Amino acid sequence: MILVLKRDISQDEKARLLEQLRAEECLIKEIEGVEETILGVVGKVTREPRYFETQPGVAKVIPISKPYKLVSRELHPEPSIIKVGDVEIGGDRLVVIAGPCGVEERQRTLDIARAVRKHGAVLFRGGAFKPRTSPYSFQGLGEEGLRILAEVRAETGMGVVTEMTSLSQADLMMKYVDVVQIGARNMQNFELLKCVGRMGKPVLLKRGLSATIKDWLMAAEYVLSEGNDQVILCERGIRTFETHTRNTLDLTAVPVIKELSHLPIIIDPSHATGIREKVSPMARAAIAAGADGLIIVVHTDPDQALSDGPQSLYPEQFEQLMRDLYAIAPVVDKQLDFAYLEKGKQLRTPQGQGESPAKVVFHGAPGTASHKACAQFFGSVESESRASFAELFAAVAGGEAALGVVPLENSISGSLHENYDLLMESGLKIVGEVNLRIVNNLIGWEGTKLDQIKRVYSHPQVFEQCKDFLDQHPDWDLIASKNTASNVKRVKENNDPAEAAISSQEAAELYGMSILKAGIESNPRNFTRFVVISAGQFPGEPKDKTSLIFSVSDQPGALFAVLKVFTDNQVNIVKLESRPVRDRPWEYLFYLDFELDQEDPRYSGLLQALPEETAYFLNLGAYPKGPEMKA
Ligand code: PEP
Ligand code: MN
Repeated sequence: MILVLKRDISQDEKARLLEQLRAEECLIKEIEGVEETILGVVGKVTREPRYFETQPGVAKVIPISKPYKLVSRELHPEPSIIKVGDVEIGGDRLVVIAGPCGVEERQRTLDIARAVRKHGAVLFRGGAFKPRTSPYSFQGLGEEGLRILAEVRAETGMGVVTEMTSLSQADLMMKYVDVVQIGARNMQNFELLKCVGRMGKPVLLKRGLSATIKDWLMAAEYVLSEGNDQVILCERGIRTFETHTRNTLDLTAVPVIKELSHLPIIIDPSHATGIREKVSPMARAAIAAGADGLIIVVHTDPDQALSDGPQSLYPEQFEQLMRDLYAIAPVVDKQLDFAYLEKGKQLRTPQGQGESPAKVVFHGAPGTASHKACAQFFGSVESESRASFAELFAAVAGGEAALGVVPLENSISGSLHENYDLLMESGLKIVGEVNLRIVNNLIGWEGTKLDQIKRVYSHPQVFEQCKDFLDQHPDWDLIASKNTASNVKRVKENNDPAEAAISSQEAAELYGMSILKAGIESNPRNFTRFVVISAGQFPGEPKDKTSLIFSVSDQPGALFAVLKVFTDNQVNIVKLESRPVRDRPWEYLFYLDFELDQEDPRYSGLLQALPEETAYFLNLGAYPKGPEMKA
């Protein structure tokens, strides 16, 4: 059962309640949510739920209807995030685990590890104990394989995932690995499940060959019931009558698991299909279905692989798949960023003696797109909000924060001139970019009908993005306000059903308000491009995109002369926009972005030629370009 505690429960009341529960033979789990604190109580409880409902400090008691309790969404409405070092599985970021089926000879394994790391894998897989259908097939290198995995981690920084097939391997697993995999054939080996539950390391629990989703969640329940909450579910195909592929990949498991459980789910399209050519299409489908990540078999020489060669991707195929996922991810509100671990690490590492780790600032309140962009670019680092863009730029320019994240343009409503102006005034440079898909929702009090609404709060650019929908409601007062998330808070505080705000789903959840209409943006291809600004340098290669601002003199062919520099050098311009100069009517500034690696021999020549052809010229910085958002 779930005991929902009153907000004003006193320390004493809570202590008494916990004491009563501890006297029962049950497991108690305290979960502190944004809105409320709950106690999950699982196991034999002799007292009736009604008894607990009458205890001081208890708001209500809800029975858990499912046979699996600790893994259920009922008990834990928020999604769980499993941490493996700096890698978080189950958040906004897609996690790709890659490597050979089995750990092989040292040099070959290291080569595969370097290749998958280069293309964006963040954890390395490889079995040292292989459960093979035939006793005559390669059985794995055992402890020697684990030593090679430890070497992979030391060299590449990637955490390692490997399968445990017997209780007797527990000590070795504790010594060498970061994530313990329970294979499909052992999904219902309950002693093994209890053992990994006690070990306390993250567990990758594969779905059994003929297991229902309920069987699978019950298996996960075994691990959690031993006190280990760090379980990642992995769908790897099930046995059906179909023989064309090795197994049948059940992608419906993704939305089903998301509904039933708070645990993250990843997909193994390699073992599911067993056929190299089928791996990438199913991997792309898995991400589109909402999976939290993938585990992919990759080998530098699949023909020589000791196991599962026919389903192993070549590194080049893996690279192509990662690029595709990079483009798909924002559409499903996820992010894939090949270099975030390095960026996060760089930020967390103090630069000088006695200095503290660098801080990142973003605009607005938690729950805003800026906050999300910040988390997606850097992973989990120390971040703080600033109420205005001017304050944000001042914080970075004044050295209070090392970096800032600001929106620069939207695919529907265009550039944010305020931030271009601040870039010009502050002298700060762009050191990175991140693109987010923006879904705008009308948010208000639960049950409010659209014809009850009189006032709507949001950012002017957001009104622009939702023009088609808002045009259908001409009588609404649109009240412009800077921060989209705090408008939701305002609607809540004003407590008037005639008011609504336009903001993100995260903001609605954060303030406990309802989405009255989802996805009201005029075009679902609504992306905002955020840039990361800094007074210093920031690592990240290749720096293949550069942003400029310039003006030209008032004479024939002046703009043509600038563009000719790009044509002569065969360099692609990806943005060109003109805007009026403030205070000087009918004079214009141009924003220009081009793509060229800073290391390219043409780069310095280009940047020398441009100031000669312009009246005003400012290089806003060179940085690695974010995922493509082309329609
Ligand atoms: C594996 O990951 O190499 C493996 C044996 O997987 P499964 O247990 O899904 O067959
Ligand atoms: Mn395998």
